[in-house]
Amino acid sequence: MPNSFLENTIYNFQKAARALQLDKETYEILKIPRLTAEAAIHIKTKNGKIKTFLGYRVQHNDSRGPFKGGIRFSEQASMDEVKALASLMTWKCAVAGVPFGGAKGGIKVNPEKLTQDELEQLSRDYVRTFFKILGPATDIPAPDMNTDSKIMAWMMDEYSHLAHKNTPASFTGKPMEIGGSQGREEATGQGGVYILKELAKAYNLRPEKVTIAIQGFGNVGYHFAELAYKEGFKIIAASDSKGAIVNKDGFAPEKVIEHKEKTGSVLKFPGAKNITNEKMLTEKVDILVPAAIENVITKENADKIKAKAILELANGPTTPDADKILDKKKITVIPDILANAGGVTVSYFEWVQNLQNYYWDKNIVNKKLEEIIQRSFAEVLQTAKVKKVNLRTAAFILAINKVAKAIHLRNHH
Ligand code: GLU
Repeated sequence: MPNSFLENTIYNFQKAARALQLDKETYEILKIPRLTAEAAIHIKTKNGKIKTFLGYRVQHNDSRGPFKGGIRFSEQASMDEVKALASLMTWKCAVAGVPFGGAKGGIKVNPEKLTQDELEQLSRDYVRTFFKILGPATDIPAPDMNTDSKIMAWMMDEYSHLAHKNTPASFTGKPMEIGGSQGREEATGQGGVYILKELAKAYNLRPEKVTIAIQGFGNVGYHFAELAYKEGFKIIAASDSKGAIVNKDGFAPEKVIEHKEKTGSVLKFPGAKNITNEKMLTEKVDILVPAAIENVITKENADKIKAKAILELANGPTTPDADKILDKKKITVIPDILANAGGVTVSYFEWVQNLQNYYWDKNIVNKKLEEIIQRSFAEVLQTAKVKKVNLRTAAFILAINKVAKAIHLRNHH
């Protein structure tokens, strides 16, 4: 069985390609990214010293539209990780039917160790370094792990400066004041909640009867928790990198984030019990939501998972080994390329608004997002039924099919 995140991603692609009887030519085109770029990113510290970091941008495929995908700042970032994430973006955009290809970027850095000024320099130098391969009709980055709207503002500004024109459509996930979209900040979580509502319907459960555990309380995990809570779902466990909390009676996510902002962690939240992150994954809940990093549901813990369904808001949280175990246990896994597509979908809306210079109300954004998520979910369910495969393979089959058609129609080589 595959071992690393990149191998896992290729394995999932291969499995679906086989089920689809994808021709060898197209298979080869899609197996290897179109472009991988690695470069030194420089900043100058307060005392005048130059510090060097590794930066990456991988462009996987652009047959359906310009490359699209976030940039993460993380000590774990590597070329292999970014390659895997770039391919997931290709499939994600295809599943959601948004006209983009897949890309991803990263800098190997612990942003907590940087000052604000250093963070800004790092963000701007990333854009200077990769300027030639970016652009609103070429490759449009967005936030990802440890990057946010403030960083997108710096990056868009740097891009505009280098291009000698105001170019808001060069980055998505910007602050609203400078071309960001209503609803983008919480879009990934919101997309997850639209799927959650469909799941509750499928299980014939009222929201207040559905218990949820969320791994990761960053932008995605927190907004999902808050929006699910507002819909009446019961959030009973949450975690961050320091540990997890559980309270069977449920808690208000807003109070937890306030506590985290004050103390630096969700731990010791009043009324809740501290447990380990590992223990939280195997708590008795209806829906388990990994919303942090890759490779967290593995053959080591999959057997102990008690949830009815896993909603993958993180990219690549479940390994193929774990998928096999979960299939046997009849635990439904809503795969990342469907479950977390809300983020890139509202990025698409942002890009469209930037290009038209015409901005939409939040209810329009959310209505359009809900339609796309519901339709994509229905298509994945239908494919799973027809092809007799799990939802991950079904989502990959759908995606590969769309990308393969685009490749053949363009007939570029
Ligand atoms: N980083 C997000 C993802 O993994 C969003 C990408 C985007 O909006 O381009 O889907």
